[in-house]
Amino acid sequence: MNYRHEFHAGNAPDVFKHVVLLQLVRRLQQKPAPLCYVDTHAGRGRYALDYGGAVRSREFQRGIARLWPARDAADLPPALADYLARVAELNTSGVLATYPGSPRLVRSVLRPDDRMILCELQPAEVAALRDEFSARTEHGPRRDPQVAIHQRDGYEALAALLPPTPRRGLVLIDPPYERPDEFAAALAGVELARRRWPQACTALWYPIKGPLAPTLLHAAVLRSGLRDVLCVELRTRPDDPAVLSGSGLLLVGAPWQTDTALRALLPPLAALLAEDEFPGDARVDWLVAP
Ligand code: SAM
Repeated sequence: MNYRHEFHAGNAPDVFKHVVLLQLVRRLQQKPAPLCYVDTHAGRGRYALDYGGAVRSREFQRGIARLWPARDAADLPPALADYLARVAELNTSGVLATYPGSPRLVRSVLRPDDRMILCELQPAEVAALRDEFSARTEHGPRRDPQVAIHQRDGYEALAALLPPTPRRGLVLIDPPYERPDEFAAALAGVELARRRWPQACTALWYPIKGPLAPTLLHAAVLRSGLRDVLCVELRTRPDDPAVLSGSGLLLVGAPWQTDTALRALLPPLAALLAEDEFPGDARVDWLVAP
């Protein structure tokens, strides 16, 4: 496995995914009952933007770095201001040097009774995750009691760990799409998560490189029998099979009125992230109605 998320952290698809993820958690938290967040492909939790892969790829310059200057703008949609405030918590000097991965972002808004379960396969990323979620004390490191970290295959974990306690919650499936069969494996993961934990919302992220792969994925969803599938996509460049022009999320069983909230939230995000002459494109469509 060659994939290293540090090259991509904070790029436009990452920002889109994290803005929607935060929105889902916030909506679930409108009810007082506790929730569990399950991240099948967790990554390392936080990423340096001032050295290593991020400096070499510069992808974050076309993502979070474009939003960062707007973080105090009075006309920012509240959900974008909320997301940027979470990023700012890691960059208190005002210089953008650190980006929160999905585990750190969600952890920053968990309530005392909420939990999270993180799965990751690469040993170096797992070590970084363990470090991220433990505090140094005089008696040695103390693990964050709200966070469980598993070094294991995220798809296998769905069968082994679902349903968790508490029974309300959210699954994020965010694979690297290195395997040729990853779209099929990811969709099978969504179906498994829905079977084992139907009360939860399941979110699947996918890349858009030309129209073919998303079209095939959507067709497979329609054949699958899944219901209550909201398709959310954000493009920041014109369609081109050679480059990542955008990304999408399939949200299965999303909290009530997520569609309405995202229809208001995503067009301004697309406008902020769009490149060159492309105006940006945000789509929120029911693939299968609730
Ligand atoms: N969810 C993270 C975030 O938003 O910050 C980013 C995850 S990154 C796109 C995908 C991660 O999955 C990588 O860290 C990679 O090492 C890990 N990975 C790859 N195959 C895996 C598998 N089968 N099970 C669990 N993790 C895997």
